[in-house]
Amino acid sequence: MRTMQLAAAGMPLQLVHREPAPPGPGQVLVRVHACGVCRTDLHIVDGELPRLDHPIVPGHEIVGVVEAAGQGAERFARGTRVGVPWLGWTCGTCAYCTSGRENLCDAARFTGYHIDGGYADYALADSRYCFALPDACSDAEAAPLLCAGLIGYRALRKAGAARRLGIYGFGAAAHIVAQVARHQGREVYAFTRAGDAAAQALALSLGAAWAGDSAQAPPAPLDAALLFAPVGALVPAALRAVVKGGIVVCAGIHMSDIPGFPYAILWGERQVVSVANLTRQDGEEFLALAPTIPVRTTVETFGLEQANEALAKLRAGRVSGAAVLLTGGAPGR
Ligand SMILES: [Zn+2]
Ligand SMILES: [Zn+2]
Repeated sequence: MRTMQLAAAGMPLQLVHREPAPPGPGQVLVRVHACGVCRTDLHIVDGELPRLDHPIVPGHEIVGVVEAAGQGAERFARGTRVGVPWLGWTCGTCAYCTSGRENLCDAARFTGYHIDGGYADYALADSRYCFALPDACSDAEAAPLLCAGLIGYRALRKAGAARRLGIYGFGAAAHIVAQVARHQGREVYAFTRAGDAAAQALALSLGAAWAGDSAQAPPAPLDAALLFAPVGALVPAALRAVVKGGIVVCAGIHMSDIPGFPYAILWGERQVVSVANLTRQDGEEFLALAPTIPVRTTVETFGLEQANEALAKLRAGRVSGAAVLLTGGAPGR
């Protein structure tokens, strides 16, 4: 099988051929059809996250079919289409795991970070952390649901009943969250990099009430803001844009330093919170909800061996919607 492997931080991914390992107890061997390219993959490639195992195969938005199951992994029949998300394993016994917060488990292992991920023809996964996928969407369209969708959904829930919702950074997660938010009757205000007309047009096409540059003030005060861009300076910008009692939700795994800001913009019971990872319950809820809306993902596809090209495009902010690797090659490329 082909893998696109990271040997060390800061290096391009290398194409490595090796035999897929047989599934161990509790594991399924998944024949990968599609794998989303997430901003977290960029942070991993750039060495911005601690506890990184090398070499590692990135990729934690895996869509594929079960090819073989290990002992005790009979949950999915052979040939079943499954999704493999970021949360790959938790201890099940710590204070977080036993209180419905397995996303915070200190011993958690993550796909494409501690466990080889989906930039490959095959991936091994603990079957307990895999999801059944809605039938309605193609493999490429389903892949972004598994991180961009799930983390976005968890971030949106933190916004509570906010009616006017700001979204900073309009990429893979935002374009999914915007659809859920509109479905819930919220108003969406989309903030993009200065002059990113494509992202602003995508936001407006998905029902955003307004789209503009992140340095701009919104036309109306926001009840909540979700930050998907890894830019610390957006935290005070978003605090200035939310009303008293409003919440600013930081949804990325890594962010540049947050600059100092006057207490006055936090005063008035405004909150700044982060969202970390996902629980399996988030996944079950979101994957049941998505087809009822229905969430439609905008994807740009690449062949597996074009993973470096996909990452470079994401880094440059030139992907509209979500980038997805296809093991069968990208159509028309
Ligand atoms: Zn991700
Ligand atoms: Zn735990």
